[in-house]
Amino acid sequence: MSKFIFITGGVVSSLGKGLASAALGALLQSRGYKVRLRKLDPYLNVDPGTMSPYQHGEVYVTDDGAETDLDLGHYERFTGVPAKKSDNVTTGQLYMDVLSRERRGDYLGATIQVIPHVTDAIKQFVKSDISDEDFILCEIGGTVGDIESLPFLEAIRQLGNELGRERSLFVHLTLVPFIASAGELKTKPTQHSVKELQSVGIQPDILLCRSEVDIPAEQRAKIALFCNIRPDAVIAALDVGSIYDVPLSYHEQGFDTEVCRHFGLLEKEVGPDLGVWQRISDIVAKPEGSVKIAIVGKYTSLLDSYKSLAEALTHGGIANKIKVELVWIDSEIFESEDTVQHLEGVNGILVPGGFGERGAEGKISAVKFARERHVPYFGICFGMQMAVIEAARNLGGLKGAGSSEFGECEQAVVGLLTEWVKGNEKEQRSVKDDLGGTMRLGAYECLLAKNSKVREVYGSDKISERHRHRYEVNIDYRSDLEKAGLNFSGMSPDQRLPEIVEIPNHPWFVGVQFHPELKSKPFDPHPLFTSFVEAAIQQSRLV
Ligand code: GLN
Repeated sequence: MSKFIFITGGVVSSLGKGLASAALGALLQSRGYKVRLRKLDPYLNVDPGTMSPYQHGEVYVTDDGAETDLDLGHYERFTGVPAKKSDNVTTGQLYMDVLSRERRGDYLGATIQVIPHVTDAIKQFVKSDISDEDFILCEIGGTVGDIESLPFLEAIRQLGNELGRERSLFVHLTLVPFIASAGELKTKPTQHSVKELQSVGIQPDILLCRSEVDIPAEQRAKIALFCNIRPDAVIAALDVGSIYDVPLSYHEQGFDTEVCRHFGLLEKEVGPDLGVWQRISDIVAKPEGSVKIAIVGKYTSLLDSYKSLAEALTHGGIANKIKVELVWIDSEIFESEDTVQHLEGVNGILVPGGFGERGAEGKISAVKFARERHVPYFGICFGMQMAVIEAARNLGGLKGAGSSEFGECEQAVVGLLTEWVKGNEKEQRSVKDDLGGTMRLGAYECLLAKNSKVREVYGSDKISERHRHRYEVNIDYRSDLEKAGLNFSGMSPDQRLPEIVEIPNHPWFVGVQFHPELKSKPFDPHPLFTSFVEAAIQQSRLV
């Protein structure tokens, strides 16, 4: 009999509801409970897979191949629980489901309405695919007061009623702004936000108040009085130096204690063990040194597009007890300026995932710099493909090498599988017709070659990593490229798909077709990031 915690947000967006949910999940785990986190997104897109990174930030991919909201990345990084397709739903998906049932006649001619049909679909989603979890945490996207969130709020209101207080809890995240000119904290936005929530029938049990400064007891009492909750249930969510300090800070403010009190669990348990988070927080606060890693990409002004990547690099730093300084460089710069002036001072270069031709030549120049100057290089997905093109052109003598993603080219060393696997018309047609749903998505196994860098790094000969791409390195060029010095050190189990390439006579040069950043956690840094950062430390000692 799982308990449900619903997390809504008010006043303004971007208060960090996803992080708050993830941190609460971690705190409940530290008290010995099993948790699962879910996100309900009110927008009409079916999933974020086809949304622009400018609009949506990173698309987080699950093992079971769903393209989901980036908050699922926070959930996984804080709890270690692998996110699943059944942990994220959008209004678009819900409507698609309801409408296809309507077309099939499943509703027997009834009039289909938001209440009860859409709200029932939401409730069904919230309660689906649960096993022995103690807590299901459901974050509602958007801000209270948005028209599009209404069906979600109505559905969780109904669920609260059905489950009763002993099995449900409402947390509302708000902002308590500090007005510097008046030297005062203002509670009015929170009061209004709670009124808005109450107007749809939801009385929050706990208020999590984002604030730059501590909220004195007097202000807390005021919020409690106006919002109809106990003063102890007004929790300050203070700004902290690192996101990995959030669980500790919330605990200090009594968040998890309040949640457990609500469910009558306090007497039955021994309290949290926060040792893991304390250790991470200590390393982040007092690193023993630092390295500079350049990330040469296309969306460098939108750091949310590379959320998991930035976190995974931080984790690599944590594993090595150092700080990783990220230097974001727009790859297009290298199409007009020399790489040297921008990359000379960095200790490692990473080309991340990406789509389309714009900026690609700049990324290839960055690969060339890293390879020639012996600077550690990590290519992820698109970054691996660019490394293969660079090696083909400059080591393999294939001057016309490119990717068919950019149109016709003489030697498509990167292309669609259907370009060289013949006789599969159906697959070819689907690739051409439909941009949504044609990618290689989710977890795939990969076999690692003996005596390779990656085999040593992973300490295993078989791994599973998550993919999100349409194009592949063309296996037909394998022998040419191997002769040129590129080692195909990771292959799909059927040996058809190159998954990892590396250059052996280089301090650290690895390109992977998958996205290792999606599986890295602060308490379990991904081995590739740990090793890459270690190589960057070595490099920093040379200069
Ligand atoms: N655009 C490339 C592809 O579709 C790489 C995708 C990525 O980096 N995620 O194969």
